[in-house]
Amino acid sequence: AELTVEAVEARREALDVRVDGETRAPVERFGQGGALDVHAIRALKRLGYETPTGIQAQCIPVICGGRDALGLATTGSGKTLAFLLPAYAQISRQRPLRKKEGPMALVLAPTRELATQIANEANAFNRAGVPARCCAIFGGASKHEQLKRLRAGAEIVVATPGRLIDVLHVKNSIDLRRVTYLALDEADRMLDMGFERAVLSICRAVRPDAQRVMFSATMPRNVRWLVNEVLADDFVTISHGQVGT
Ligand code: ADP
Ligand code: MG
Repeated sequence: AELTVEAVEARREALDVRVDGETRAPVERFGQGGALDVHAIRALKRLGYETPTGIQAQCIPVICGGRDALGLATTGSGKTLAFLLPAYAQISRQRPLRKKEGPMALVLAPTRELATQIANEANAFNRAGVPARCCAIFGGASKHEQLKRLRAGAEIVVATPGRLIDVLHVKNSIDLRRVTYLALDEADRMLDMGFERAVLSICRAVRPDAQRVMFSATMPRNVRWLVNEVLADDFVTISHGQVGT
């Protein structure tokens, strides 16, 4: 049954989540509402994740509903799965990759450490049965090795902006034509690190009809600017806890 507006508000309040631009209620279980695919739900169980965190509970229905979104939440609130789980749902509905195609989802992260962390999480889900391979691309490591793994096929690529721009200049290295989901993690840090131009040029190289989501711990002016450049006009804002500027 449909929840009343008051019931949706109460559920959000209990999770310390605020939403601007969308009426869908947060989910209480990962499987609720059928937004996520069966492989991801099974993998969540295998990996010991029981209930969604606040940001996940609200991001899952909104992002799986196809909306562009801005997620604002402090460190430790579970933002990685808030953008990975909807990516899996989207990937599961698409035609499999052919040789030399891919990825379907692209994640940008500010540092090698963060890109590695996200890729490790994604690879744990892959080992737990989610049919999406993940490849990480970052500076300070062999480009040759990364290109080799990329060519072996990856539904998800996690990259730092600088190295991805580098790789895009290598002929036949990475084909962005199948990217239908673009996630920017720690957007505030990417801008602080001077990746503004690289991030923008990557966003513009991705199909205009790709879904875009952005996550940040803070909301300073430069992030506001990037939001307006990158997300659709009708994007949804989902925040959890206290967000600084
Ligand atoms: P953030 O990106 O917001 O800093 P992470 O995605 O890195 O947060 O998650 C922080 C920690 O919380 C990780 O150790 C992760 O495995 C754990 N975590 C994420 N979601 C859940 C969940 N639903 N239940 C239990 N632990 C979770
Ligand atoms: Mg994070």
